[in-house]
Amino acid sequence: MTIVELNGKLGLELGKIVGEKNVSSERFVLISYSEDASPFEGNLPQIVVRPNNAHEVSRIMEFAYERDIPVIPVGGRSSINGSTIPRVSGIIMIDMTRMRDIIEINEDIMTVTVQSGITWSELIHRLKEKGYKLGFRGPYGGNAGTIGGSLSANSIGCGASSHGGACDNITGLEVVLSTGEIINTGSNWRIKTSKFEGSYARYCTFNDMSGIFLGDHGSLGIKTKATLKIFPLPKGEAYSDFGFSSIEQAVKAFHEIQSNHLVEEAVMLGDTNSIDLLASSYRSTFKNIECILAVIIEEPNEEIAQQKKEMCEKIVRKYGGKSIGMFLSKAHWLNMFNLVQSLFEEGFWYNTCHIRPISTLPQLIEGFHHLANKYELKKNGFNWIISALGVDHCFTSGWITIFMKDRSNKEITYEVWDELRELEMELDGVPYWTGKLWEPYALKRVNPSFYKTLKQLKKTLDPKNIINPLTFGL
Ligand SMILES: Cc1cc2nc3c(=O)[nH]c(=O)nc-3n(C[C@H](O)[C@H](O)[C@H](O)COP(=O)(O)OP(=O)(O)OC[C@H]3O[C@@H](n4cnc5c(N)ncnc54)[C@H](O)[C@@H]3O)c2cc1C
Repeated sequence: MTIVELNGKLGLELGKIVGEKNVSSERFVLISYSEDASPFEGNLPQIVVRPNNAHEVSRIMEFAYERDIPVIPVGGRSSINGSTIPRVSGIIMIDMTRMRDIIEINEDIMTVTVQSGITWSELIHRLKEKGYKLGFRGPYGGNAGTIGGSLSANSIGCGASSHGGACDNITGLEVVLSTGEIINTGSNWRIKTSKFEGSYARYCTFNDMSGIFLGDHGSLGIKTKATLKIFPLPKGEAYSDFGFSSIEQAVKAFHEIQSNHLVEEAVMLGDTNSIDLLASSYRSTFKNIECILAVIIEEPNEEIAQQKKEMCEKIVRKYGGKSIGMFLSKAHWLNMFNLVQSLFEEGFWYNTCHIRPISTLPQLIEGFHHLANKYELKKNGFNWIISALGVDHCFTSGWITIFMKDRSNKEITYEVWDELRELEMELDGVPYWTGKLWEPYALKRVNPSFYKTLKQLKKTLDPKNIINPLTFGL
């Protein structure tokens, strides 16, 4: 049966599940769904379907499982790593973005339970109206990125210094398996008797089943609901930017601030080029500023916020840094998702987001500067930003992004991009979102026993290999 013939029947069958208007195989739709925010290319999906609830997702999976049809669940398709791009033909793409209800805000257990297709920005605004904030507030692509996408892609971003990444902030999930079966994780493992809609504890009676699906890049199941921790909105806030004349000093201060768990967010700009791009006035006002550490503090009252700010200043002074204002920390925090998006004006992004111990940053930055000289990036019209976010305790999400404005320089871009990813992995880094961006680099280095176990897990949960096939090379 050709794909076109199959489409007619598929459209009819899937339309019975989700409603005719929520199924499409129009070419322009398929072309758009064959891409994400990365430069990678792949196959067109066969059809796109937009379910409204877990029951519909379950029926789609039963349908696909019986017929061995591959599927890919997608949220905002804001990945910069090619993880939503079909690698095989005939894919049913399950667009989760109609599933965007807030199911429950539970003030007793301080959680919010949502359908997984809601975006971070919508959830943040709706919680704010009720006087709450999330811990981790989403990746910088949170205007489009969904909760389900971020939990699948291990997102790191706003609020990670204090709260860790997306996956550190959940207490339970609802997941549809490849067979269509629906399971709940955390304290919701029981046959439903509890008054709580969401799970109130992630770790309880059995193994942590949520963890199996977190960071799976949608390869083990489809997340339909998630329960996340919430907190009261802060009544005390403080912002501060610190300038340093050497990266080594800045990194020591960054490490001490993180290890003492002082701030909601700490973000470092790692060289003069990055400062010129994002906070140029600092370099004309202050001499010898090589890098900036910006911190954001959120506390239950002003007094604690100010005390924490003073503690940060003390640490910064110990390492030779100084307070230079609050432009960057405020711009960064108050613009949140819009700040990063505006950087697309600098040209197409070639990023290499990954995590690493904070102490390894100077070596990485030195390595990148070596590459920048070797490929004469400035002379060839490239720009870049080196930044690093605090994550959880003492590691950082390092972020070297190269901007290519002039498309005739594509070959250089790919060479630098490749060398940079090799360098980052050699210097103790590991990617957190993987996809086409990082898989060749990660799979080259994966421990065989670890990979064998992952394969067995995939085989058990998705015996016909129909969910996001070829992800992680599986
Ligand atoms: C301007 C910009 C800034 C960004 N900044 C950051 C950042 O700071 N930090 C960061 O981590 N990322 C960042 N990203 C990347 C992206 O925003 C995040 O990875 C985001 O979490 C992806 O969410 P999404 O809904 O778009 O997922 P998608 O791109 O649609 O999907 C991502 C992966 O998750 C799977 N998936 C999606 N939904 C589900 C589901 N319900 N169940 C199972 N699997 C699913 C997909 O199959 C795919 O493998 C940025 C992107 C842009 C464009």
